Amino acid sequence: MTGGTRMERLSMPLARDAIRQLTEAAGGCIRPVQLRRTDTTTGKVDQILVPCGSTREDQCPACAKRAASLRAQQCREGWHLTADPEPPAPVPDVEQAGWLLLRAEAQVRRDHALAASADTSVLDELIGELDDHITAAGIRGTVTSRGNDDRPRARRSRSTRRRQDTPDLPARPIAKTTTGRTYTAPDGKTWQPSMFLTLTCDSYGKVGPDGIPASPATYDYQRAARDALHFAALFDRFIQNLRRYAGRDIQYFATIEPQKRLAPHVHLAIRGTISRADLRQIIAATYHQVWWPPADHVAYGDDELPAWHEASGRYLDPATGELLPSWDDALDAIGPHNEPLHVARFGPKFDAQGVIAGSKDAGRCIGYLTKYLTKQIGTVHTDDSNTAATDHADQLVQALRYEPCSPGCANWLRCGITPKDPKPGMRPGHCRGKAHRRAYLGYAGRRVLVSRRWSGKTLTDHKADRRTWLLATLGLPDLPATEAGRYSWQRVTQADPDHIPPSAALLHVLTDRSRQKAALALARERHGPRPDLPATGEAAA
Ligand SMILES: [Zn+2]
Ligand SMILES: [Zn+2]
Repeated sequence: MTGGTRMERLSMPLARDAIRQLTEAAGGCIRPVQLRRTDTTTGKVDQILVPCGSTREDQCPACAKRAASLRAQQCREGWHLTADPEPPAPVPDVEQAGWLLLRAEAQVRRDHALAASADTSVLDELIGELDDHITAAGIRGTVTSRGNDDRPRARRSRSTRRRQDTPDLPARPIAKTTTGRTYTAPDGKTWQPSMFLTLTCDSYGKVGPDGIPASPATYDYQRAARDALHFAALFDRFIQNLRRYAGRDIQYFATIEPQKRLAPHVHLAIRGTISRADLRQIIAATYHQVWWPPADHVAYGDDELPAWHEASGRYLDPATGELLPSWDDALDAIGPHNEPLHVARFGPKFDAQGVIAGSKDAGRCIGYLTKYLTKQIGTVHTDDSNTAATDHADQLVQALRYEPCSPGCANWLRCGITPKDPKPGMRPGHCRGKAHRRAYLGYAGRRVLVSRRWSGKTLTDHKADRRTWLLATLGLPDLPATEAGRYSWQRVTQADPDHIPPSAALLHVLTDRSRQKAALALARERHGPRPDLPATGEAAA
């Protein structure tokens, strides 16, 4: 660009920063996605900027705040239901279908690029981004299968006997009901209490009030790392035990968040109540055994790594040329007398409180449940000058570095095992699994876990509720469902001639946002606040 004075050119980045800040302050998305909408009836083309939909504050504060507030709404709507909701319909709605179409198109382009031996990195990134949108739109699972986990396989001979130190739990048949008990007071008023529960990992060594280990040398970083890696599986086991013990299809809205000591913990809103004594028993009986091959022995150090063998699609010993056992071989070698690689358990301490619908406590708990959702697990300690906190995180990252995160982890090569679905170029200590990264610290799973019959709605349904409210408040007509199929959508990329440059896109977002805000303020004056939000308001719209 050659036009403009030197001053003008110098002030350009500043102007861009200012627009970004203004957009952010107005609650607008700072990373809008440009879509080309073609009306298939008239041929008219429009450029539409849709919000990025990120759930992370460091990526887009406005979208992250909206996502967290939507989760708060989902939590609130299901918590105290007095009748069983129908599970949401599994058919993709208009929004989901839109993202799936874009995803399919991107896949075709990637396959073509790959066939032509072209670089696919940009398309891979786009596909990753679209997968995030698809997940955010409430579709479970991934579009393309990674690996073949569903392949039927012969049962392995492994010990299924319970460990001696585990108290057995009485199992009751699970009734279909999802609501808790209702109590009737002497004055005839009925109420149905719900519950807020927090489960934590066990102790790995004494920590101070800031979560920093008193003695880093004796803190059990390996167990902390393994517990974090298998936290999601342990949580699943807890829910199974809880349902079997209580004899009903208990529903929950759970968020997994970091503690100051950098271990994950889980907050649950549960419909109905369970006594503290029962909970103590269930928690003590809950464990998850990881039946993976032994991973504590280093068979190949960093200077003598196994080599890829193209013909067999496996790795071999660089000195002897002998093939390493495959993942399945290594699993088959686990005998009935072996110990599991790891047994994950919750710590004995837990926090449980009864909560009444519509109370101040309920609002406070929902705020608590969704408080850290916009932040990553590894970003609890934000003060870089606190070296003890940084050292603590470093140690945990180090413990996770060579720890196998999954059957396909490159670290299995270090133990002398070919990982599941092996590829050339795998290097121990350099696995690309999210769990190894500092931002995740071992837990790379979903941060919000909601049972199927929580509110009877998908996240998209909750979003649609908001949209309906917004349109009604503003007195705008909704797009009839029959109109939706009329448009075809394409993602516009930087290479396209009609691509809107980021700074211009932000100006559009800012203008739209300011107009919408003004209209909404006016409508609020006339119609009052949103009816479904409590007056205490744990989450702003
Ligand atoms: Zn955004
Ligand atoms: Zn890994």
